[in-house]
Amino acid sequence: MSRAITAFVLLIVLGVLAAWIADRPGQLGLDWQGYRVEMPVGLGIGAAVVAMVVAAILYQVWRWVRRGPADLAQARAKRRHNRGQLALTRGMVAVAAGDRAAALRFSREAERYLAETPLTMLLAAQAAQLSGDDKAARRYFSAMLKRPELEFLGLRGLVGQANRSGDRAGALTLARRAYALNPQAPWVLSALFDLEARAGNWREAERVVTRAVTSRALGESEGRRRQAIAGLHIARDLRDKGDTAAARKTALKAHALEPGLMPATLLAVDLLGAAGKRRRALHLIEQAWQLAPHAELAAAHRHLFVAEDAKSYLQRVNHLVGPAPAHDEARRVLAAAALEAGQTERAAEVLGALADEPNAEALMVRLKASIEERAHGPAAARPWLERVATAPEPGWTCNVCTHRHDAWVAHCTHCETFDSLRWGVVDGVELAKPEGARHLPPVDADAAQAESPGVTVLRSPPPLGSEDDDDPLLRAAG
Ligand SMILES: [Zn+2]
Repeated sequence: MSRAITAFVLLIVLGVLAAWIADRPGQLGLDWQGYRVEMPVGLGIGAAVVAMVVAAILYQVWRWVRRGPADLAQARAKRRHNRGQLALTRGMVAVAAGDRAAALRFSREAERYLAETPLTMLLAAQAAQLSGDDKAARRYFSAMLKRPELEFLGLRGLVGQANRSGDRAGALTLARRAYALNPQAPWVLSALFDLEARAGNWREAERVVTRAVTSRALGESEGRRRQAIAGLHIARDLRDKGDTAAARKTALKAHALEPGLMPATLLAVDLLGAAGKRRRALHLIEQAWQLAPHAELAAAHRHLFVAEDAKSYLQRVNHLVGPAPAHDEARRVLAAAALEAGQTERAAEVLGALADEPNAEALMVRLKASIEERAHGPAAARPWLERVATAPEPGWTCNVCTHRHDAWVAHCTHCETFDSLRWGVVDGVELAKPEGARHLPPVDADAAQAESPGVTVLRSPPPLGSEDDDDPLLRAAG
């Protein structure tokens, strides 16, 4: 609309101008090299305008001839780029959907249109991996290492490949390189902890898990458990090297981090006992016993007081489990101590019908046999001894593959799962739940009793001094 008005106004102005010139006639003359040209003013102006229009058209034609091919090429490149971007997007969607054929097709298309960009390389690697072409995937991931912006991504792919092919040493080297690039990334922290732990580099593993906790890549309670497991192994190494003081300190720290980690508690108890710090060792056993009575804990308790006669040891067990314990393990330990001290009747009374149950554990049945033998002679013990062979025996069992281990290990020797061993019977039906044992015992005895109904909590723990000598029981043990 405004264009029409402009043209209309222009026409009027031109008309007025033409009329104005026509009203003022005159001649334009040109003398050049003996030639003479004369024309009316109006015609002269008209000729000048025509010459200007022709010059403008010629300039446009010249410009088009000069720039045309470049413009065409630019338009073609833009079209290719758009096609490449579309192929890239479709390829990423195909990878996410697990569509191998489409991922490969779009990856090739993206490569054809976009050449080697970070995203096409990533898509190519992922498509190759998806279609099971590990060799091609490795080639792409390795090429990514040469580009700083892709190095981290390439390392992630290569760590995963090395892990899958069982090349632990290679995976560890690559994971350490990724950790140096970005020590906050959750996958690096998780992969590196796993690899360091499997390689037995527990100090490095501890550093990594501490980093994971501070950068919130790992939950606090899971982090504490892993720190404790690393601490336990560091303490064992220190003990093996003869540095018992440092070993003791480290084991105690591991126990404090995760009081439910039985091997750490047992190591700390063992090292304290060996250093003559039996009062502290006893305190640790009592604390752990309140969390969960445990056959290995009972054995450590017996070992701590191995020099005591049966009568004073019975007193100790009374002190540990209480006079009328409800927990099966506590009853077994008390009955065994009573039998050892010659109190056969009391032993039978405390054990009650625990060994009569069809799935009674071997330790219970064996104890029942001993009680029967003491009370009624070898013939009475025979049927119980026959049952011992088939009775389930609790031990360290993997809660993933149910493989049984003689001693606790950080990685299942059968399925290699980390921290999967729980104390229980072989068939895996009665595995102890680790969650309940992951917290410090409540200070309030009633609350403790409510939280662990099967565990008898000591109502009034006897006062313990700062030295072994202050403990009347320990003094008596001399
Ligand atoms: Zn396993």
